[in-house]
Amino acid sequence: MLKSNISLKPYNTFGLEANAKELFSFSTVTELDDFMTSYYGSLDNIFILGGGSNVLFSKNYDGIIIHSKIKYIKTVKETATEIFLEAGSGLNWDEFVRFCVKNKYYGAENMSLIPGNIGATAVQNAGAYGTEAKDLIVTVKVYDLIEKKEIELTNSECNFEYRNSIFKSADFKDRILITSIVYRLSKISKFQVKMSTYEGNFIKRQFHFWNDFLGHLFSSIILKRKGGKKAFFDYRFLKNLLEDSGLLPLALKRRIVIKTRTSKLPDINKLGNVGSFFKNPIISLEKANSLKKEYPDVILFPYLDDKMKVSAAWLIDGCGWSGKTHGAAGSLKHLPLTIVNYGSATSNDILTLAKNIEEAVFLKYDVVLEKEVVII
Ligand SMILES: Cc1cc2nc3c(=O)[nH]c(=O)nc-3n(C[C@H](O)[C@H](O)[C@H](O)COP(=O)(O)OP(=O)(O)OC[C@H]3O[C@@H](n4cnc5c(N)ncnc54)[C@H](O)[C@@H]3O)c2cc1C
Repeated sequence: MLKSNISLKPYNTFGLEANAKELFSFSTVTELDDFMTSYYGSLDNIFILGGGSNVLFSKNYDGIIIHSKIKYIKTVKETATEIFLEAGSGLNWDEFVRFCVKNKYYGAENMSLIPGNIGATAVQNAGAYGTEAKDLIVTVKVYDLIEKKEIELTNSECNFEYRNSIFKSADFKDRILITSIVYRLSKISKFQVKMSTYEGNFIKRQFHFWNDFLGHLFSSIILKRKGGKKAFFDYRFLKNLLEDSGLLPLALKRRIVIKTRTSKLPDINKLGNVGSFFKNPIISLEKANSLKKEYPDVILFPYLDDKMKVSAAWLIDGCGWSGKTHGAAGSLKHLPLTIVNYGSATSNDILTLAKNIEEAVFLKYDVVLEKEVVII
């Protein structure tokens, strides 16, 4: 369905006012194909929009927004231990997670409540609490808006990286529209998978499991104490507990993730935001070492053999920019990576605040902050 002069406010979680010249939404690939075969305009005038939870409309959009409403979940393959589910790109991601948890399919639960739709999970390689979309994706079906045909990419063809994929490359962006994704879920828990890797009789396997599990648990607590923070329930602890313990039913794991997220992240219906505005910068080992030497409390995460990720929240906080505002836009005091719209923020308020933060981080730490949000 093609609509003209549409307000994009309901289509972006920042809640910014902007209009699109046209918005085309479709529920089947055939509808998309019919539309594209009669479209003779330039692809420069097309933007593909999902749930709008990672975009910032900086001005009115003088072109066509293409919005998938393909919503379905179907089983494409099943074995004794695995199930392969195909989901339409317009389906809400958390609806998919809820479906998996309800049916006791393991794998997606750590990513509960990430806003947005199925399609963008591959674009962004969305992730939370140690699970990324790339860990679950088997194949991605896409529609090429130039060639006007559907093709399928395998996981390795998607070039997944931290919050990145081939879909963000210049050749793919706004040309390749994801129509559906096949995810692989496990029908048995990580606990059962892990137990099957130990040798020996039942008692021996139990001993190995609990030995490993308690090791993880204690190292999480020790790491947390070293970090000197108040919260006991840190992300490593949550991950280890959720992934390794067979004691927690899947539905309870999901509830814990949801509770943890809602206790930290602002409700998009009350305070517009896109989650993390910036990515954690990827830096060389040398740079990580020099930061560590100068700032022993720097928060670093391992990333590939010769690189590290540095916590963007730590960098922003270290520059004194947490909790700062510009107009009606502000970075949160307890979550400086999240920039919120206090009600009447303009895109200019948000982008100016972001620019000030980027400059402060660069000046103090010589590290470039890259935006996670997509600016239109
Ligand atoms: C409160 C909050 C918490 C968040 N927490 C997390 C988190 O824990 N982890 C995380 O990774 N992200 C998080 N995010 C960011 C966001 O939810 C994810 O990046 C999500 O995957 C974006 O989905 P979307 O459908 O809203 O994409 P959109 O914002 O609509 O689009 C994002 C990009 O994907 C492209 N795109 C969208 N759909 C398609 C398609 N079908 N085909 C081709 N390209 C497409 C768009 O062109 C755009 O470039 C959070 C956001 C909010 C508001």
